Amino acid sequence: MVGDPTGEKLASALGGRTANALRKAFGYVTVGDLLWHLPRRYLQRGELTDLQKLQVGENVTVQAEVASVVNRRMQRRRGSILEVELTDGRSRITVTFFNQHWREKELRIGRSGLFAGQVNRYRGSLQLAHPRYHLFPDGVDDDQAAVQAFAGGIMPVYPASGPLTSWTIADAIRVLLDSLPEVPDPLPQSLLADEGLITRDAALRHIHRPKDLAEVDQARARLAFDEAFTLQLVLAQRRAQTLQHQAIPRASTGGRLLEQFDARLPFTLTSAQLAAGAEIARDLSAREPMQRLLQGDVGSGKTMVALRAMLQVIDAGGQAALLAPTEVLAVQHHRAITAMLGELAQGGRLGGAADATRVALLTGSQRTATRRQELLDITTGQAGIVIGTHALLSEQVQFHDLALVVVDEQHRFGVEQRAALVDKARTGTRPHVLVMTATPIPRTVAMTVFGDLDVTTMREMPAGRIPIATHLVPAQTRPDLLARAWERVREEVQAGHRVFVVCPRIGDGSDDEREFVDPADVGEADEDSQEAPDESPRAASVLQVTAELRQRLPDLHIDMLHGQMSAEDKDAVMRRFARVPTPREHAQGPDRDVQVLVSTTVIEVGVDVPQATMMVIVDADRFGISQLHQLRGRVGRGSEPGLCLLVTNADPQSLAGERLAAVAGTTDGFELAQLDLELRREGDVLGQVQSGRRSSLRLLEVLRDEALITRARVASQRLVAQDPDLQAYPALRAQVIAVAADDRSDYIEKS
Ligand code: ADP
Ligand code: MG
Repeated sequence: MVGDPTGEKLASALGGRTANALRKAFGYVTVGDLLWHLPRRYLQRGELTDLQKLQVGENVTVQAEVASVVNRRMQRRRGSILEVELTDGRSRITVTFFNQHWREKELRIGRSGLFAGQVNRYRGSLQLAHPRYHLFPDGVDDDQAAVQAFAGGIMPVYPASGPLTSWTIADAIRVLLDSLPEVPDPLPQSLLADEGLITRDAALRHIHRPKDLAEVDQARARLAFDEAFTLQLVLAQRRAQTLQHQAIPRASTGGRLLEQFDARLPFTLTSAQLAAGAEIARDLSAREPMQRLLQGDVGSGKTMVALRAMLQVIDAGGQAALLAPTEVLAVQHHRAITAMLGELAQGGRLGGAADATRVALLTGSQRTATRRQELLDITTGQAGIVIGTHALLSEQVQFHDLALVVVDEQHRFGVEQRAALVDKARTGTRPHVLVMTATPIPRTVAMTVFGDLDVTTMREMPAGRIPIATHLVPAQTRPDLLARAWERVREEVQAGHRVFVVCPRIGDGSDDEREFVDPADVGEADEDSQEAPDESPRAASVLQVTAELRQRLPDLHIDMLHGQMSAEDKDAVMRRFARVPTPREHAQGPDRDVQVLVSTTVIEVGVDVPQATMMVIVDADRFGISQLHQLRGRVGRGSEPGLCLLVTNADPQSLAGERLAAVAGTTDGFELAQLDLELRREGDVLGQVQSGRRSSLRLLEVLRDEALITRARVASQRLVAQDPDLQAYPALRAQVIAVAADDRSDYIEKS
């Protein structure tokens, strides 16, 4: 960008050596890259650390006097080491310098000063390696002016990497700032005034060299606004583009299918379902394509709401597609929806109702003949409802008149996939889109991550649900409880129920489809530490647990389900697990039933087996909060109470232990989602790994910055309404394009 000094190469601003080191460590190339390497925190004015209170790993500034100085040759390597012992009269600490014996001249015994650096432990005692220091004039042992100037103002502490310490980075940034021409501001002046924001130039200078903490706050506010605003602009533009295409209104016709369906419902809809249904019915009647996110806790009855919307569009002459994340789920939706519709789904068949439609199923593993028939029904419009996995996205699939796309469990689908389906509507039109998620998303995240969707939340459960009881089973310390747990599995089965056993991995050597490693497990790794996380012991596997359980409970029918199995096998096992045997089959012996299903998280999403009453999650600490909540949502879906046992070896005091206790403590998915967010780092929430590289969501904390994100959203919509392509703001436009193109920005959709 012409006239923007942040586009300049680091090599010409800093010289080759430093520029090289920065490129190697962080991938930085331009001045802007380095300027956006923001301080992690600040050491405050005069914040001197008592020598007695030093902690390993901390960056500290101490005031002390030189007690002894030794310069010696190193034994194993060439060079010398200068060891200086400091004291404050009570405690001592060593500071060391390599190959800097000339410092001996100034670091003389008795001289006082300030020393700043990171505290390490070396051979049992604390030391500062290569500290920066400022010595008071000879004979002065306290100098408040110097304290203020050195420790003083405020010292930024930067995320460091390898040889690039916080100090080196601070030096490089200081050099840059000293000669940096004014950085232009991409935001409209009027916006700065309205929002009370300082300029980008001021913000960048203040964030690196603040006079006081108020300046830091102002700078952060401005840079965080930039992040929120740019992201919201991307979303606002995307939304504006969608709105350029019109949908065909599919108003409720007082339609026959929907009416007949409602009349046959075996239960009454909850008021949340009715409210969501009314909102969706209204959206579907408009020319503007619906873009709605339906969120509701596991079991709140979202599928019912979606099905009624589908019937509305079929009544209005259109078709609906339901996109499921897994084959198991697609098959199950097909089975459940066909069953719920009864004769209404028997279109064109003997015994079908007059206005009946058909429910087609498309999966990747179908036989060619079946698939051909389904494709035909989709093209001719015979099939009003089409359920499938990503096989639905294939070019071969052509709809007669696709009116509504329902995406179940959105988090498994990316933006391109959604786009592929949306393109299947009649030429020049867009279908209405309903996205369902059972992972309740806090408002702020919904705004940030799903900024282009309207949100409907169902906070009510169908009446008569008995909450699932969840208990921790500490496997190592309480083997008796574990034994009791397996006994309980037998009792459940003997009472005619089904039991899920979930393991973190398959264990077939191909490991492993989805061994789940929660980012929160790793904890908040300090950017300064270069320690690799521990290699944790292998988690329980489906194969091994199945074998063990077959030995322990030989009288039960135990089978397994995992992602390495063929779709046919998966489906067969699911059927044998889910079905209620006919009396005749039962008389033939229960051989064909699966009573205990040992599986990976394949069953995590949406699987509905009403007679499943118990779930045992082995090595539960390997799963994240939301995942555990999803998993246990698979049991207690019928009229019987549900039981979920979390088997773990995690220390109750650890983060993992805390997460498990939270899951055991409440069944409120919204509460857990909030907690999950608090326990994770923001970057993890948004599904991206925070590296040292520039990312577009660094200052923003999705939870803390709700007000800011809301403001940015309003402002971005206003600007896009005035100037959709941001013609008047080329710099801003470039920034928006960069964020939209950033491969990592697909977290906007995927999360
Ligand atoms: P989810 O929101 O998790 O997708 P589902 O739509 O799968 O929930 O519904 C869970 C179960 O509750 C299903 O068996 C469904 O038939 C049943 N259900 C849905 N709505 C109601 C209701 N209003 N009253 C009773 N049961 C309901
Ligand atoms: Mg569901």
